[in-house]
Amino acid sequence: MNYQQLNPDKKDILIIDDKAENLRVLSSLLARKGYNVRKALNWQMALTACRTVLPDLILLDIMMPEVDGYEVCKRLKTWDLTADIPVIFISALDDVFDKIKAFRLGGVDYITKPFDFEEVVVRVQNQLELRAARLEILRLNTELEQRVKCRTLELENALQKLQGEIASRQQLQDKLLDIVLHDSLTGLPNRVLFLSKLGKALNLARENINYQFAVLYLDCDRFKVVNDSLGHIVGDELLIAIADRLKLCLNPSNTLARLGGDEFGILLENLTDISSATQVAELILQQLSITFKLSRHEVFMNASIGINWGNKDYEKPEYLLRDADTAMYRAKAQGKARYKVFNPEMYQEAIQLLEIENDLRKAIEREELVIYYQPIISLCTGRISGFEALVRWLHPVRGLIAPTEFIPIAEETGLINTIDIWMLQSACHQLRIWQNYPATPENLTISVNLSARLFTQPNLIAQIDQIIYETKINPSNLELEITESVIMENTNFVKKIIEEIKKRKIKLVMDDFGTGYSSLSYLHSFPLDSLKIDKCFINRMQFHQHTMGLVPTIISIAESMGMTVIAEGVETKEQLIKLRNLNCDFAQGYLFSEPLEQQSVINFIASMPQW
Ligand code: C2E
Ligand code: MG
Ligand code: MG
Repeated sequence: MNYQQLNPDKKDILIIDDKAENLRVLSSLLARKGYNVRKALNWQMALTACRTVLPDLILLDIMMPEVDGYEVCKRLKTWDLTADIPVIFISALDDVFDKIKAFRLGGVDYITKPFDFEEVVVRVQNQLELRAARLEILRLNTELEQRVKCRTLELENALQKLQGEIASRQQLQDKLLDIVLHDSLTGLPNRVLFLSKLGKALNLARENINYQFAVLYLDCDRFKVVNDSLGHIVGDELLIAIADRLKLCLNPSNTLARLGGDEFGILLENLTDISSATQVAELILQQLSITFKLSRHEVFMNASIGINWGNKDYEKPEYLLRDADTAMYRAKAQGKARYKVFNPEMYQEAIQLLEIENDLRKAIEREELVIYYQPIISLCTGRISGFEALVRWLHPVRGLIAPTEFIPIAEETGLINTIDIWMLQSACHQLRIWQNYPATPENLTISVNLSARLFTQPNLIAQIDQIIYETKINPSNLELEITESVIMENTNFVKKIIEEIKKRKIKLVMDDFGTGYSSLSYLHSFPLDSLKIDKCFINRMQFHQHTMGLVPTIISIAESMGMTVIAEGVETKEQLIKLRNLNCDFAQGYLFSEPLEQQSVINFIASMPQW
């Protein structure tokens, strides 16, 4: 064999034949056709040849001594390295050639001697092409498999990444949902989640008559005062402490929620009767009455609670909560720090309030508001020093309505701004008219009440200027009565407004002094002209020195701060004597006169009673 001649670019053909003549003829033919041809005379040589280089095609003679062609083919086919190499049998025409056996053993074709050269070349070529095609398919298959493997891996990675993303997205979504449904300060469920739980309770009650539940609406009393005086940080700390204390009053099957601001909602489930709900309310009130020890302050805080017994006839959970809220308002109105159970009459009253609100809007347009004037007496001269303008509502159906009935509604709805500015305008105008009467004392003052809400109005000063300009009154004859809540705000904005008022020489009076929560330090930082002692202190004043209550103290505080004092709600001569003895500057009350209709004022001035 001539291995040196092997050319790797050429197809390699191994001819196995014991007849040298055959070998020679075939090999020279195929070599001429451009193949590498190797020759083997028997199985042993063929084996060696295959071990050296694997041929692309084998031509195998059938008739050979020792190991015949069938056997050689069988052996080649059982050896993995050669199993795929196509074998073409060579047989002589006179050979007893068993074609079936040859094919069964793995032969792919046969050629017969004497050789038809063209046929040999074609058959060899065919088999080589077939094999090349098979090998190409195999290669492509492997490549494809490889690609599929790579792609599968890629997909697996992508899937894993996607799953990771889905998981983190789910986490984020859960977190967002948690944020949306919970209050960030206390971590409690918020109104949305609470209403959904109420809705579920309502459904349960519809399905099962034995399922009973109740909803509690809790609102802290005076929370705004804590927030305003101690600041929002303390307010927040207090809210958390309240939430914690409420939790202690409830078992885990109940739901506690923060509905907003200083309001909490409680859903009590699986109850047997209403007393179990009122017991919880009592426990809460008792727990809340214990001082809250915050990081830097000790605070007292109680709450008003409205209870509504769950009823399957409610159409929506919102209505259930609304009625608990109505009951809570009732608890507040009755003096706070208590609970009230809802009954349908309360709902009617709430509706009535709503009607008042609607009517009040129209009242301003329809000019149903009227002013009554109550004289203020100088205790020094015994004469009238001024009048306080007090609003009344002449309702077309209900008759005269007192301000205590509608001012809170006006404040809540913001209508108070329009009312107060209208009052200011009308009262100043009226003062200007009175000044034209000869009986009118010089420097008669007019006092107008201004709600704290007005002090958040950016154009308040401009409106006051406009009124003074139009009515041409002397601003020093105007007194504005404000309440402690105005100075409790203590914002720079309020301070600016007050400064502007003072610049115009308008007087500032602190009304209802003593009923609010303002501290003396606050009083100091505001340029007030007078303190008006609330009528409840005057009322409590008795004949003897030791039961005079706070009145002497308030008068001496005012004196030391250079403010004058007005006593309000003076109803008896004895009170007047006491006040005179205490050097109180001014007094106002039924003893002198009830608030008068505008038409009666001039007569009153003219009759000029002296006290
Ligand atoms: P206020 O400013 O403290 O007014 C004094 C209230 O005490 C008036 O009640 C007056 O009628 C009443 N009063 C006067 N003398 C006596 C007395 O001897 N005994 C008793 N028991 N009461 C007396 P009124 O007119 O019902 O006003 C109630 C409150 O409504 C006022 O308290 C004031 O806070 C508010 N208000 C009245 N008019 C206006 C207004 O135009 N604007 C604002 N924002 N509030 C107003
Ligand atoms: Mg007043
Ligand atoms: Mg007052």
